[in-house]
Amino acid sequence: MKRAALKKNLEQEVLAQVKRFNDWKQQEGVHSFEDLEAKALEIAKEVAQALLSYGVADEQQMEHQQRPEAEPNCPECGRAMRYGGQPGKKIDSKAGTISFKRDYYHCPACGAGLFPPGPTAESGGGQLE
Ligand SMILES: [Zn+2]
Repeated sequence: MKRAALKKNLEQEVLAQVKRFNDWKQQEGVHSFEDLEAKALEIAKEVAQALLSYGVADEQQMEHQQRPEAEPNCPECGRAMRYGGQPGKKIDSKAGTISFKRDYYHCPACGAGLFPPGPTAESGGGQLE
């Protein structure tokens, strides 16, 4: 997805969450502060997930634009790697589990696999679906 489309999706998602809060507020009767707080935090988590998903996807787009066309060399044996598609990945964040896709390369010579560096490189925790 292009960066402009990603941004538009994010804006729509955030607006949808604000609408969700308003709809809930209209339908239910009088709310205690605790009810309002619980609903606000529930929706804030959804918004945080949307922001994180957008942030990761946008970083990938920037990285993709900067990456040379040539496929990387294997970190194990140094031979040219082959593009292996975009398997799904999941990361457990403080806002919940974020799903996304990443470019993947594999080495036909020694079988090593590689996800090029990106926003998830330092965080570790992600796993192939
Ligand atoms: Zn190799």
